[in-house]
Amino acid sequence: MADFHLAATMMAPQFLGEGRIGETEKPVPRPGPGQLLLQVRANALCGSERGQFYDGTPVTPGHEAAGVVAAVGPGTHTPVGTPGVVFLMDFCGECRNCRLGLTNQCLAKRADMGFNQDGGYGPYELVHENIFFPIDGDIPLTDATLLLDIMGTNGHAIGRARLVHPDPQSMVVTGAGPIGLGMAAMAKIMFGTDFPVAIADVVPWRLRLAETLGALPIDLNRQALAEGLQRHGLAAADLAMDTSGRQAARQACLGVLAKRGVLVCIGHGEGLTLSVSPDLIANERAVLGSEYFCFDELAANLALLRTQREYLNQIITHRFGVGEIEVAFRTFFGGETGKVVIEQ
Ligand SMILES: [Zn+2]
Ligand SMILES: [Zn+2]
Repeated sequence: MADFHLAATMMAPQFLGEGRIGETEKPVPRPGPGQLLLQVRANALCGSERGQFYDGTPVTPGHEAAGVVAAVGPGTHTPVGTPGVVFLMDFCGECRNCRLGLTNQCLAKRADMGFNQDGGYGPYELVHENIFFPIDGDIPLTDATLLLDIMGTNGHAIGRARLVHPDPQSMVVTGAGPIGLGMAAMAKIMFGTDFPVAIADVVPWRLRLAETLGALPIDLNRQALAEGLQRHGLAAADLAMDTSGRQAARQACLGVLAKRGVLVCIGHGEGLTLSVSPDLIANERAVLGSEYFCFDELAANLALLRTQREYLNQIITHRFGVGEIEVAFRTFFGGETGKVVIEQ
């Protein structure tokens, strides 16, 4: 194992709680059997890190990491120097769900990277080789983070909707944070630029960014979801994608869902009240959950990223060095950003 070039320790961000991030010294891990040590180059911030930022955690967060293999453990086949991204869920590869390729539903998951095991805000991240997805050197590693929550999570949610809806002709998205923006972009990429995607939020800044991606903005400060949809010439939506996690948003989605329509819940959070007969049975509508994505979806998304990189890159609005991580988080949770990426 050629790791003589690695230092013994590294300084990693420490999430102290109450919106403060300090620094802590940790050993640079040495890869064991089946493991790779990555030198992290980019890690995107995510709304799901709100708890870690405000409550603190002993783990180094970061679950949207891209980096380069710095050292390899026994039994691996990835060469040192290979660039790639990290899949959040350290899936087993052997359970019933993994054997079907449903690696986001692994029954014997070893870890969630960046949540219960050190993730990508430190200079190095230790991963099992099966969750490392290599990419070619032609894609900058900041852009490669788009493969994760932006393309992966949204592409998967659209795939879930398509399981029950063969011919969607319209979409409404609630929440124009990074996931909602990514949803609008992936819908345009997958269904064509003429496919109408309405997107609703209370932050005008985000709605303007959504508009530059080709989405139809609905400012919920000024109008209800149904009214906004009508003003864009849409009586109802075949697909409703809730990225907000808010009950009010999900109920409003149900209210504008067409016959045979599908509501996909992507944002974690609050509940949903269903009146089963009018909401589901009479109109044959469906409510689905969608969680992250399957590892095997990365290859198709990488092909899409190659052709749509300039378009998708508009979602990354801020880049910070790792020394500015606290400011990066404050800016992000201030609400007027797209995706924010820490680069090192
Ligand atoms: Zn995330
Ligand atoms: Zn499994």
